[in-house]
Amino acid sequence: MESVRRERGLKKIIKLASNENPLGPSTKALAAMRKAEKSLFLYPDGASTSLRAALAQKAGVTPHRVIVGAGSDELIELLGKTFLNPGDSIVVSDHAFIRYKMAGELMGAEVITVPMRLYTHDLTAMAAAVRENTKLVFIANPNNPTGTYNTRTELSGFLKQIGQLNERREAPMLVVVDEAYYEYASTLQKDYPETLALQKEYPYLMTLRTFSKAHALAGLRVGYGFGDPSVITALDQVRPPFNISVLGQVGAEASLKDTAQAKRAIRLVVSERKKILPVLSKLGIPVVPSAGNFILIDLSPRKGAEVFESLMNRGIIVRSMDEYGFPNHIRVTYGLPRENQQFLQALTEVLGR
Ligand code: PMP
Repeated sequence: MESVRRERGLKKIIKLASNENPLGPSTKALAAMRKAEKSLFLYPDGASTSLRAALAQKAGVTPHRVIVGAGSDELIELLGKTFLNPGDSIVVSDHAFIRYKMAGELMGAEVITVPMRLYTHDLTAMAAAVRENTKLVFIANPNNPTGTYNTRTELSGFLKQIGQLNERREAPMLVVVDEAYYEYASTLQKDYPETLALQKEYPYLMTLRTFSKAHALAGLRVGYGFGDPSVITALDQVRPPFNISVLGQVGAEASLKDTAQAKRAIRLVVSERKKILPVLSKLGIPVVPSAGNFILIDLSPRKGAEVFESLMNRGIIVRSMDEYGFPNHIRVTYGLPRENQQFLQALTEVLGR
């Protein structure tokens, strides 16, 4: 933000580029971290015992089923490091969150890419794409950058199919469902799957979540995962010993206990989308229906990268989507009311409407 401001001679920057929650962290989390500053000369608890116990208690599972990472990004990479070797493969969608592909490539695994259907993971095609050497299947639910989600029925059907394939295997392939936008999707979508309940039936199912989005703690870097104790133990053997800082552990735990925090984040998205979507519709701009705190906007025939630059010259940072295979789209995070207003005004100007 600072370099954009300096280089372009702008006074103020609005960042709607990384699906953060602009309301900021829970005041209880901030107070807990201030209190913990006295302990900063000590190494953190390498097992994040208290945070894992709190996550487990809230989810109604035992702490043996919980792992925490420096963001869910670290857990995605850890899954790759733990379970992939050259000669293995992973299955992902063509417009899925990009870190899965990167984790596969990092480990020299083949990345099998399956086309989406209507901007959504095509779970039938993904099940058909799985091979004997497939070790991991990644599903972002909702997906970033499309914002779309797979329903309970779709996911259960998919897991059943994978289960049948796993029965014939020595080492089961893992299905990783990345729920970075869980708080939004589980509250706002009636048919959103409850993966923790599904884990009872499907032990090879792993769930990832994060404090970076609704909890507004992206800068703290804390993500977490639920899975079978055997999977958690394997990941723990590869995990760096002190991956969650002292502040990360206490801040995340306090935020988890502040239930009002996520509710505020959801309310903001609900009220802002009521204002933004009609304006975009009036401008004739197609928007992909989103279960997250962001939207993917189709600006065809304009190039997303070009609109991104023009918006940046007006002090508004969004994301162009070339690396996701969407050359005509931008992704925009719902900001504060005033920020969204300025974005809409700038977009109208840039598009000359
Ligand atoms: N998964 C998805 C689908 C995301 O959108 C993001 C954030 N961009 C992440 C994982 C990573 O989040 P973090 O590492 O901050 O937990």
